[in-house]
Amino acid sequence: MKVIRVREGKERSLLRRHPWLFAGSIASGKADPGETVRVEAHDGRFLAWAAYSPASTIRVRAWSFDAAERIDAAFFARRVERAVALRRRLAVDSDAERLVHGEADGLPGLIVDRYGDTLSAQFLAAGSERWKAAIADALLAATGCRRLYERSDASVRELEGLPRVAGWLRRPEGDAGATVVGVREHGWRLDVDVAQGHKTGTYLDQRDNRRLFADWVRRLGCARVLNAYCYTGGFSVAAFAGGAQEVTSLDSSAPALARADAHVRRNAPEGFDPARHTTLDADANATLRRLIDEGRRFDAIVLDPPKFAASAAHAERAARAYKDINRLAFKLLEPGGLLFTFSCSGGIDAALFHKIVAGAGLDAGVDGALLQRLEAAPDHPTTVSFPEGEYLKGLAILKQ
Ligand code: SAH
Repeated sequence: MKVIRVREGKERSLLRRHPWLFAGSIASGKADPGETVRVEAHDGRFLAWAAYSPASTIRVRAWSFDAAERIDAAFFARRVERAVALRRRLAVDSDAERLVHGEADGLPGLIVDRYGDTLSAQFLAAGSERWKAAIADALLAATGCRRLYERSDASVRELEGLPRVAGWLRRPEGDAGATVVGVREHGWRLDVDVAQGHKTGTYLDQRDNRRLFADWVRRLGCARVLNAYCYTGGFSVAAFAGGAQEVTSLDSSAPALARADAHVRRNAPEGFDPARHTTLDADANATLRRLIDEGRRFDAIVLDPPKFAASAAHAERAARAYKDINRLAFKLLEPGGLLFTFSCSGGIDAALFHKIVAGAGLDAGVDGALLQRLEAAPDHPTTVSFPEGEYLKGLAILKQ
């Protein structure tokens, strides 16, 4: 077993069960990509069993802080079972759910979502890559699913020195390999494409916020809704479910919009007039400005942009971009209207996001009442020892 020796004073984060060790904190030792190493303090004390990643600045990711634990196939089976058991207890109101959420489930560099009978996984670090076969077996055993698609095509793989790959990892003999899977969310029927969809297929972290949006639209009686950065239209379906009269879905991806329109039609009551749903294939920022110029107004707006800041280093530019779209949204809202606004940038924490949105309100000359703080659904947990895991934050604000 290879040993990684930590510089004196740099063992503190591991002692607090923070699972990462950066290259600069290592005094000595190296290993192959994904190899299991014993991490020791400068005086030889055991700190963790971990995966070594020679290419990444996050040089070590801890598997276990228990000296007696063996990192083998049985270890991954136990961790996967624990993650799946937690989801069972959460009783998620959907057959699409996050089963493994990386560090928060004790499996750094691994994301697994379930879409009905199909699993979709991302192996994002050298350690999870090395144990891929054992993890795949454990996932099928713990869930009873027989289909597992790999979506290891995220750019972070490059930081680990890993190529981007995607395709079926497991599939029963004779299975045609259809990648579009029908799922049910809050009683709505949605399609997810595990091969072409974003991330592992779609944005499950927003599931509970989509239901909350439907609730707020109903409570506040919002008639005209704008869903900006709509992707496949989950919030648009929610808006109609909440009683909206007209919904505009805005995104810069034509395939996403086509699916959004199909989702709205499929989940609408009989006799639904399709003219009540409009799709706009355009840049959101420019479109918000145009809608203001045209004198359009909305009773509710969703702003769910892609990550503007991957890390704190880009926070300042991202802050300006968030402020800009939120200011425009405040202007487009009727007094009494609802803003559902999000940031999924890890580099912008909830307090900063709150400040940015408050600043946008000031610039737009409106007061806002904070109705609710929003976060990722509980099947995307964060552990207390790993604040970096917290990324999605949102605010439900009433324009006064
Ligand atoms: N709210 C969605 C998820 C949004 S993901 C849901 O609940 O499923 C962010 C979306 O923003 C993606 O669909 C992406 O195509 C879109 N997007 C990215 N840049 C954009 C831009 N400049 N203008 C409009 N849409 C954009």
